[in-house]
Amino acid sequence: MPRPIQHQWKGNEFCLVDLPPVLRLEFLLILQQRDRQGYRLDPRIIRRCLHIALESRVRTMETLHRQLLEQNRPRRLELGLTNYGRLCAARWRYRFSGQDMRHEDLWDAAVLELRVDQTTQRRCSKGTIDFTPITVGWLKDAAKQYATTLELPADQVRELVRSCTIASQALLKRPNGPRPGRLQRENARAVFDAYANLTAADGTARTARLKHDMFSVFKRLLRDGRELPALHELAPAFRFLSADRLDTPEKPTPEKPTPTSKAIPDSVIRILDNNLHLLSVTAESPYAMGRPPELHSHMLQTIYQLLRDLGRRPTEVLALQRDALHHSDDRQPFIRYDAPKTGDYGLELPIHTSTATIIKDWTARINTVTDIHPHAAQYLFPSLCGFGPAAKSHISPTGFHTHYWRWIDRIKELPEYVNGPEGTARYFDRSKLNLYAWHHTYAQRLSDNNTPPDVIKDLMNHKRFETSAGYIQMNRKRKEEAIRIVSTTTVNRDGTASAPGEYTAYLRSSVATPLGLCTEPSNVKAGGQACPARSKCGGCSYFRANISHLPVIDSHIVALTADLELAAPLAEDWILQGINAEIASYKRIRTLLTQAKNTLTTEQQAEIDQATDLLQNLAAAPTTIGQRTGPKLLPLTPKRR
Ligand code: SF4
Repeated sequence: MPRPIQHQWKGNEFCLVDLPPVLRLEFLLILQQRDRQGYRLDPRIIRRCLHIALESRVRTMETLHRQLLEQNRPRRLELGLTNYGRLCAARWRYRFSGQDMRHEDLWDAAVLELRVDQTTQRRCSKGTIDFTPITVGWLKDAAKQYATTLELPADQVRELVRSCTIASQALLKRPNGPRPGRLQRENARAVFDAYANLTAADGTARTARLKHDMFSVFKRLLRDGRELPALHELAPAFRFLSADRLDTPEKPTPEKPTPTSKAIPDSVIRILDNNLHLLSVTAESPYAMGRPPELHSHMLQTIYQLLRDLGRRPTEVLALQRDALHHSDDRQPFIRYDAPKTGDYGLELPIHTSTATIIKDWTARINTVTDIHPHAAQYLFPSLCGFGPAAKSHISPTGFHTHYWRWIDRIKELPEYVNGPEGTARYFDRSKLNLYAWHHTYAQRLSDNNTPPDVIKDLMNHKRFETSAGYIQMNRKRKEEAIRIVSTTTVNRDGTASAPGEYTAYLRSSVATPLGLCTEPSNVKAGGQACPARSKCGGCSYFRANISHLPVIDSHIVALTADLELAAPLAEDWILQGINAEIASYKRIRTLLTQAKNTLTTEQQAEIDQATDLLQNLAAAPTTIGQRTGPKLLPLTPKRR
C-alpha cells in the first residue's frame, strides 16, 4: 500500500504503513482478533498507540507494551490494547513456530494457554512454570509428560513440580537414583521418608497436611502415569511406593455452626419496596451503555423483585430464559429455571400471580429491543452491554451487584435496629442485605407460614431438609409444635409416659444428657453439671427419653458391652455386675421405646422424624441473639444417622 501523503485523516481512520514490518503484522492480527471477538475498536486509542510506537521506534508489540509501562502516566486503555496484543502475538508466534515448549524446562503458562485452575476454563495471562528443580532426568520427563497428557491446569502443574522436587532430592542422594530400571525398595523407602520428614527452608517441620498432600501428588503420578514413556522402565520394586500411605492428619471436628437467621426482616423489605424507584440509572451513567436509562432501570427493578419473590440463587434469577414463565392447565403460573449448582435443569417453581405480572411486564418491554446480540437474546435479562464477549450473555452478577448496593446506599430510612426472633431488638447491618440473603428470606417466609418441611425442602431445591433448616430460624409456634409431636413418645425407666407437655414446661424442667433428658431439679438448675447419680441415667428415675434417642442408646449399649468384655478378665465381680446392670437398664428403655415406635403409623413416624430434625437444628441456636447464657437450649440429643 502506498504511503498516503498529505492525507486529511478522518476521526475513524489510522494508518499502519509506517510501522516496522513485525509490529505492523502484530497490529493487524490483534485488530482482526478483537473484531472477531466482538470487542469495540476505538480508532483514537489505536492512533495513540501508533504514535507512541513511531516516536519510540519500537519493533514489536512486546517492546511497545514495555514502553507504555515506562511512561510517567501510562494510559489504561492503551495498555489494555498492547497487553492483549503482545499475548495474542506470542501465542500465534508459538503456534506456528513448530516448536513444543512442553519438552523444555521452562513453560510459559500464558503462551501454552494453561487453565488457571481446575474449576475454571479461564486461561493464564501470565506466569512461568520451571521444571529445573527436578534434577533427576526421568522424573522430570515424567512430570512434563504427565502434565501434558492430563492437561493439568497451571496450579496443579506447579504442585506437581513441588512434589517431584522432594522425591528428586531424595533419589539423588541414593545410588541408582537417576536410573529408573535399577531402583530398589530402599530407594522407595528413602523417598517415603523424604515426604514424611519434610521441612521448610529454615528447618521447621512442615504440617502433616502438606506432607500428605505432596506425597499424594507423587503417588498419583506413579499410579495414573504408569503408561507414560518416561516411566516404562521404572522398576516394579519402586512402583510399590504408590501403595504406601502417609497418615492423614486428624481433621478437627468442626463445631456445629450456630444457625442465625440471615433472612431480611419484613419491615426492611417494606422500606426497600417503597424506595424501588431509586433503583435506577441516569442517562449520564457509564453503565447505561447508550440504552434508554428507563429500560436499564426497569431491568434492575425487575431483577430485585424476582430475587425477593422467587427466592432462587442470584445466578439462577439472572440466567432465567426469556420464556421462563409458564402456566399450568388450571392457569396457575410457574417458572422454569436451571440450577447449575445442584446440576438440576428445567426445574419448575410455582409463583404468585403478582410475580407473573412483573415478569410479563418486563418481557413485553425487552421484546421491543431488537439490537441485542443473538446469543444473549434468549435470556430474560440480556446484557445491555453493546460489545465484547459480555454482550453475548445475560447480565452478570457483578453488573447487578454494583447498582444494587448503590441503591441500598441511597435509601436513608433503613433502620439501625430490628425486632429479633423473640421480640428483642437486634442491630441491623446493611451488609446483611446481600443478594444471597433473599434465598434465606424465602426459606424463612415459608417456615413462618408453617409450610411443611418436605415442601420447604422441595421449594428450596435441596436434597435434604437439614440443608433447608440451615436457612431457617424457627419461630416459637413451630418450636411448640415440634416439641408437642416429639414429646408424645417420651418414656421414663418404668415405661410410664411422662411427656413434659407444654413448651415452657419443656424448657424449664429438663436438660439434655448424652442419651436423653434429665429432669432432676438440681441438675437442671446447674445446666446438666450437677448429676447426683454419676450420670448412670438408665437406672435413674429422673431420666426421660423419646424415640429420637434410640440410635444413641443403641450405640451406648454396644459400647458398654465392649467395656464388659475388656473388663471381664481383670475386674472384680462387683464391677462386672455394675456394668451388666447398666446394660440391662438401657436395654429395658430401648425395648420400651421400640414398643412405642411400633405403635406409630407411617405418617406419625414421618411427622416425628421431621419434628426431630427441626429441633436438632434448633438445639444449637441461642434463643436470642447475643444471649448464649440466657434461656436454656432445647434439651434434645442430636440424632446420629
Ligand atoms: S443420672 Fe439421673 S440425675 Fe443424673 S443426669 Fe441422668 S437422669 Fe439426671
